Amino acid sequence: MKGFRLQALLYAVLPTALVLTVGIGYGGSGRLTAAVTGEATPLDQLVWMLMLVGAAIPPIWLYRKVLGLSNALEQNAAAVRHEVDVEYRQRLHVLGVEKARLDAILRHMADGILLVDSKKRIQMLNPAAEQMLSISAREAIGKDHLEITHHFDLDERLARVLRSGEPESLEIRRAQPDLQVLEARLALAGATTDSGVLIMLRDITRSRQLEQMRTEFVSNVTHELRTPLTAIRGFAETLLEGALEEPETAHHFVEIMKRESDHLGALIEDLLDLSRIESGKFKMRRGHVLLQDLIPDTLDRLAPRAEQKEQRLTVEVSPDLPYIEGDAARLSQVLVNLVDNAIKYTPARGAVHAKAFQNQDGIILQISDTGVGIPQPDLARVFERFYRVDKARTRATGGTGLGLSIVKHIVDSHGGRITVESEVGVGTTFTVTLPLPETAPLPRSNG
Ligand code: ADP
Repeated sequence: MKGFRLQALLYAVLPTALVLTVGIGYGGSGRLTAAVTGEATPLDQLVWMLMLVGAAIPPIWLYRKVLGLSNALEQNAAAVRHEVDVEYRQRLHVLGVEKARLDAILRHMADGILLVDSKKRIQMLNPAAEQMLSISAREAIGKDHLEITHHFDLDERLARVLRSGEPESLEIRRAQPDLQVLEARLALAGATTDSGVLIMLRDITRSRQLEQMRTEFVSNVTHELRTPLTAIRGFAETLLEGALEEPETAHHFVEIMKRESDHLGALIEDLLDLSRIESGKFKMRRGHVLLQDLIPDTLDRLAPRAEQKEQRLTVEVSPDLPYIEGDAARLSQVLVNLVDNAIKYTPARGAVHAKAFQNQDGIILQISDTGVGIPQPDLARVFERFYRVDKARTRATGGTGLGLSIVKHIVDSHGGRITVESEVGVGTTFTVTLPLPETAPLPRSNG
């Protein structure tokens, strides 16, 4: 600034003042007329020349100053433009990255996200929502949500959120074709109702099913425990009320009480087993198990029961079966349960056959009987806890209704599977398929 003032003094103020002073003084002395009339002396001409030069200095200086200023301004503007450009690009990049992130989150999140506008028309839905509502975004976008969700309660809640701006939540139950339970949470998508409403959907079908199973399980267990207890108490009371005096009756009652308490014991054992298996607490003692050894050993223990009913208990095991990688005690439990059931549900003089062989699928263990059979509609359910085909008969045979669910758990934990085929009045076959060990030889027999 100081430099500019000095320059202005030197190049603008001083020359102008000098030119004015000399011009007024010199011109006033009549030398101006002399110059016009052509009587000017060389000195006059020199003075006028110097005045002309002096008068030219300020405009030239001013012009150069203005030129410099305009150049500087232009440079500044270009720099500012560049800066703005760079910032703009950076912001665009950041926005692009954020959008890609948001897209990825929406695409991969397990919860369904649905955005509806203030007129309740669908604006956006992520893949999870597409799957939950069984519709593609292409079909859904732009449509009224009711056309897609068919849920009037949801519609009412949407209207409420749009009126009050307050979040809402509700449970949506859909049958499609299996029951599906969705938890829906609704909230404004922005600061005002104009931005629409976000609907967040979570599939809670499994946890609802588990809750229901837990409730059913508790009521089943209570019922199962109460039945033998009631019998024991009833007989004990009858004995105390005088039946003790009649030895024969008393003996009979005590026998029933013993049977009921055995049943209670078996029930508790099975429940403990099931709870250990389901909570993952039971440790499998993995080893190499040969069915060639396991089947005869286990069946020897059950032979007396089959003999009691005069049943034929036969065994057929391929001699060259590879070993199974598993827990011998648990696999023996599977065998005991299946053969025990076969004996239980086969009338006297029937037949029970245990067979083991290898095929493409793995090592196969089959228990067949010529018993009462299981009706077709019950087949899929026999592995459920407490499921019994014929409740009265099962109770009479001392069954707990837990055996097959324990068997299924054990087979599953060995990486195998269990299936059942049956014909009422003809017989039943349970087939357990266990995986071959990794180094097993190729199968040779097909059973
Ligand atoms: P339970 O202890 O009552 O035998 P399970 O879980 O072992 O319980 O079996 C469930 C039900 O499946 C039984 O109550 C019975 O009705 C049916 N079931 C199992 N095995 C056989 C079989 N070999 N023949 C006919 N019915 C069977």
